[in-house]
Amino acid sequence: MELLSVIVPCYNEEENVPYFYEELLRQEEALRARNAALELIYVDDGSTDGTASEVRKLHEKDRRVRLVSFSRNFGKEAAIYAGLKKASGEYAVLMDADLQDPPALLPEMLRYLQEEQYDSVATRRVTRKGEPVIRSFFARRFYALMRRISRTEIVDGARDYRLMKRCVVDAILSMTEYNRFTKGIFGWVGFRTKWLEYENIERVKGETKWNFWKLFLYSLDGILAFSTMPLAFVSIIGLIFCVLAFILILVIIVKTVILGDPTSGWPSLVCIISLISGVQLLCLGIVGQYLSKMYMEVKKRPIYLIKEEL
Ligand code: UDP
Ligand code: MG
Repeated sequence: MELLSVIVPCYNEEENVPYFYEELLRQEEALRARNAALELIYVDDGSTDGTASEVRKLHEKDRRVRLVSFSRNFGKEAAIYAGLKKASGEYAVLMDADLQDPPALLPEMLRYLQEEQYDSVATRRVTRKGEPVIRSFFARRFYALMRRISRTEIVDGARDYRLMKRCVVDAILSMTEYNRFTKGIFGWVGFRTKWLEYENIERVKGETKWNFWKLFLYSLDGILAFSTMPLAFVSIIGLIFCVLAFILILVIIVKTVILGDPTSGWPSLVCIISLISGVQLLCLGIVGQYLSKMYMEVKKRPIYLIKEEL
């Protein structure tokens, strides 16, 4: 038998923990037929509700259920990293606790790894049904932008639901960066990936942890982590303004020397100064964003801290 580690990041999912367990066990037969045994790792990402005690209850009756409990909320990316680190299986799969990632796909996903030459099986949703229109719009724009400015492949609608062989897990674990944009990390490590598509499924219980503002900041993290194009953009703006200034200087010299027309007017000067200082601050801000990410990386703080482990 080969071991399949199921990693479930949970943040305030007390209702979903036992429910997920039941739904997963429904696939046990089919997985056993594929020679795979289960190990279930719930990563409690600093939940403030009864998530950890629900997992403890499951652990009491089924020792294949494990718990990794963080000292506070470190975010899903950290929970994924911790789960992969703790996984001991030959295969590992990442799944949301809210059953938006259907466990029924697992046997088929495993088949691709076992019978075909794939190293990982990823999923993407083809529809964004049930999502606010504005959010879908900006999500699409984000992926379109990323395609242009990043060399790492970041797939539109890709979920974190992904089954991997040990070699892929080890590759992801070797990326120890603090600012973890998992969607980019998956693309960056490469390997042969099979994509499965399914329709969006709404979460069973509880609320999504993401609002528009959080998603917006997350998209900025993605850009900063997987593209340096904004820095090139800054240089280009600088160059454009240099050329513009040079042309203006020539115009003024010609006007004064040949036409004898003294340049007048401070309103134009005020406009130019405020425009250019605006552009300068914007560019400084872009550089500052990269600097702040670097600052966090250089500190080498741990990605997560564990409070309890079962
Ligand atoms: N999650 C987490 N830490 C967080 C936020 C979310 O571990 O800070 C978990 C959450 O419990 C769920 C998964 O990540 O299992 C996906 O979260 P959610 O369903 O809120 O995101 P959505 O599906 O709406 O993108
Ligand atoms: Mg969800």
